[in-house]
Amino acid sequence: MALHLSRRGLLAASALLPLGLYGPAAGAPVAGPYKIGAFTVTPLRDGLFPLEPSMIPSSDCAAGHALLTGAGLPPQGPSPEPVNAFLIRRGDRHWLLDAGCGTVLGPGFNRVTAALAAEGVRPDQVETVWLSHLHADHAGGLLTPNRLARFANAELVLQEREAAYWSDAGARASAPTALSPMFDTAQAVLAAYPDRIRRVSGEAELAPGIHALPLPGHTPGHMGVMIADGPAQLLIWGDIIHSRLLQMPHPDWTVIWDTDPAEAIATRRYILDRAATDGVSVTGMHLAARGTIERSGAGYALV
Ligand SMILES: [Zn+2]
Repeated sequence: MALHLSRRGLLAASALLPLGLYGPAAGAPVAGPYKIGAFTVTPLRDGLFPLEPSMIPSSDCAAGHALLTGAGLPPQGPSPEPVNAFLIRRGDRHWLLDAGCGTVLGPGFNRVTAALAAEGVRPDQVETVWLSHLHADHAGGLLTPNRLARFANAELVLQEREAAYWSDAGARASAPTALSPMFDTAQAVLAAYPDRIRRVSGEAELAPGIHALPLPGHTPGHMGVMIADGPAQLLIWGDIIHSRLLQMPHPDWTVIWDTDPAEAIATRRYILDRAATDGVSVTGMHLAARGTIERSGAGYALV
């Protein structure tokens, strides 16, 4: 499956790799924890990344610049966007949804372990890590700097399609060379947990009250997670939104890292519409808070 990246986008993507630009701000206050019935969901802030218009090419226009300046940012950005993982607890059980960047994207990240420690949780207490997808800002934190397993006892759970894509030599060959580090990280993660990877398909139950929700397009096996206990619900939707500021009002403005941009846009529109109809509370790996979705003009708003 081909990746659709502009030359500028590729430059931006490779420029992101050695990034440490927003390190000090990564200690900024983080929302939560959220009580979902008997579950406690705690966002763990791994760092902030500087999102530029070249990473969402359709936003590099008057309307996009106006959104940035309206938020007090320069017209070409960057806008600082969070990178989150989530600690999910019930009783004495500890699960993680994603693991942040680890050390693979530079010195400004890798705060998930410290955030876990602040919650009184050691890595060896984590029973399972559910992965929204295998991009480095979600899976890199599964590795130590020596590329060994950071979570000594955790099972790794992801969609079958996701594991297959990043292990596929043909997919790698047809992807731009600038994305080779993404494949390297994904394959290192899969190799570090050789006997403890569980591949699921579709809306699988991940734990009692917690279900996978396939949201393909950003990557083939990209998934959200729905947490429910009685009437209390929270959807953690992975990378449906990378910029609340730009993509909520313009759901068709998609990021350069999408494996299938058209499918990513269709999935984003589907889940925004469903969330607006259902009134479900949502949050994500690149959102600073949770909220509900309202229709707003030709797009949506997180309120
Ligand atoms: Zn991401």
